[in-house]
Amino acid sequence: MATSIPRAMPSRPSYRALPIRRPRIFRQYSSQGQNWAGHPFDVAKDNVAQLAASPRRPLTLADLLKHGRPPLNREALLASANFTLSLLPARLASRIQALRNLPFIVVSNPHVSKIYHNYLHSLSTLLPYQQRRITTLEEEKQFGDVLADLVQTHTNTIPVLARGFLECRKYVSPADVTSFLDTHLRARIGTRLIAEQHLALHYASQPISDKTFDGADEPAPKNSIPSNYIGVIDTALQPARIIRLCEDFVGEICELKYGVRPRLKIGGEPEASFAHVPVHVEYIITELLKNAFRATIENGNEREPIEVTIAAAPDVPGNEPPIPGDTDTGFELDSELSSANGNETIGYSAPSSQSITIRIRDRGGGIPPEVLPQIWSYSFTTFSDMDFEGSENGNMDALNTISASGGHLSSIAGLGYGLPLSRAYAEYFGGSIAVQSLWGWGTDVYLTLRGVGRID
Ligand code: ADP
Ligand code: MG
Repeated sequence: MATSIPRAMPSRPSYRALPIRRPRIFRQYSSQGQNWAGHPFDVAKDNVAQLAASPRRPLTLADLLKHGRPPLNREALLASANFTLSLLPARLASRIQALRNLPFIVVSNPHVSKIYHNYLHSLSTLLPYQQRRITTLEEEKQFGDVLADLVQTHTNTIPVLARGFLECRKYVSPADVTSFLDTHLRARIGTRLIAEQHLALHYASQPISDKTFDGADEPAPKNSIPSNYIGVIDTALQPARIIRLCEDFVGEICELKYGVRPRLKIGGEPEASFAHVPVHVEYIITELLKNAFRATIENGNEREPIEVTIAAAPDVPGNEPPIPGDTDTGFELDSELSSANGNETIGYSAPSSQSITIRIRDRGGGIPPEVLPQIWSYSFTTFSDMDFEGSENGNMDALNTISASGGHLSSIAGLGYGLPLSRAYAEYFGGSIAVQSLWGWGTDVYLTLRGVGRID
């Protein structure tokens, strides 16, 4: 266990030296953030508190799409940059506040502290841009490059936080971890979506310069986004195609790990398509297939195909359920779109938005009844690699695999984030995931994704 306690960073309070057994430390710098003054983590405190509490500009999906619709021109690009800048600082500040509200011992952990500093760094990088606004393509180019860097910095947040929370599991209850991570990771989905939406436009506009826009005729940008894309949204996304891609990827992991690869059959309506964010669908399908493949092989049933059934259903107009969206606190709702739950609403008004349900049926023996209540907790896993068996730290294997592969989840299981994070992605646009286990036989997972709506 001692090996998993990392060495303290010189510039930060020493993790080992903290009097962890005395609860006084919790009170000293704890909770509501009043006692952070003078502490090394106190950087930009005023800004953070103010920004986190500031009234938020309501975000709707229509907003995100507005600037991305072709043709991409100078005004749209600058408007998108300023729109992005109007949203990100408050969202980052709210995450910083949430991290500060964790027990001090947790924020002192080098991994959690690394994430905390990433947020501080991103906020302090973006604030000057927000204050002076983007008015030329030159400024946009600089801002886009900076934003790309920041997005890159936050890529590994999940495995790093996971490691941090694993190391702190003696000091926080699994319920508190799950509740923090659920809010944090849902908010992160929205923040990344905003940033990546602008980056998609930024990259598409690379060949554009102020000069070319001086003329009345705007040339089509060379790096244009595929025609069915609006920024990061694919308006003709076919889940069956993503399922095949993920099958290849997960199949390869299985061959490496187990020497076999189960088959996968797609039935129902493989042609079905809707508008959605491909990276979200890809994340979810990969996680669900990893679970199904692993269970099938470990149950000795690799000859039984995994059956995937795709069913498309149009939404009943005017009968859309409230959208959970993200749970970043303090997000105000557009008056027309507001719902009672107080969460951010991704508003899609289009009546043609569709739901697609994907059922993944495996013969992996089902989920033991005693395991079932825990499958939605972050960090819960029944996976433990041979090398780590008995080491109390089975999950570390998955974490190590992730860092070694540069942020890609190339381990079949072990982090215990697959199901809860997939559900967060599905729910972001009003979808859901339901797991039905037939103990002793297999598992059915119903993934419903709501199309993000057609935009005309
Ligand atoms: P991980 O796969 O990293 O363990 P998940 O959140 O994806 O984390 O899943 C949590 C646990 O739920 C798994 O460890 C496994 O015990 C159980 N589980 C999930 N899907 C299935 C399935 N299709 N068949 C059997 N067990 C499953
Ligand atoms: Mg999994």
